Amino acid sequence: MKGTHGTPKSSSKKPYSGQSSIDVLAAQCEKCKKWRVIQSEEEFEEIRSKLSEEPFYCNRRSAVSCEDPADIEYDSTRTWAVDKPDIQKTPEGFKRHLVLRKDYSKLDTYYITPEGKKVRSQNEVAAILKSNPKYKGISPSDFDFGSPKVMEDTVPVDVPKKVPGSSNKKLKTTMD
Ligand SMILES: [Zn+2]
Repeated sequence: MKGTHGTPKSSSKKPYSGQSSIDVLAAQCEKCKKWRVIQSEEEFEEIRSKLSEEPFYCNRRSAVSCEDPADIEYDSTRTWAVDKPDIQKTPEGFKRHLVLRKDYSKLDTYYITPEGKKVRSQNEVAAILKSNPKYKGISPSDFDFGSPKVMEDTVPVDVPKKVPGSSNKKLKTTMD
């Protein structure tokens, strides 16, 4: 459970809105285990990208120490998703979005290119990088389509559970 964590809002937004479901970012202090809210995505990505090497401590925030109360508690008042440590920072100009599925089963990861194109896979990214000389120096491996683990104990109880074996495909087509 060590790591930096994004915390998607418990009232998830509509899918396909082009918005990330994450509304609060937090990192856990390696020493006191308290959660500290991380203000910007850039800072969060910076912390996460080197987490194994440089664990997060309260004092990394100015004027904060382990004595101070936690900014946020890990509980079911919001749904938590736990990131893997050491995810590459998002290349400049790109945005990494995480969208929570309606049934809270998982977060889908995609990137938005500087042109506003939505990219959903490593292959797609590779093709875009290849056809755009201006992205020279950016490698497909700079993109991570893994998604944080949704913590089941924080999923609201009134979320409709997926029925195993049933398919939502029909519904999806009509919505398109
Ligand atoms: Zn601490």
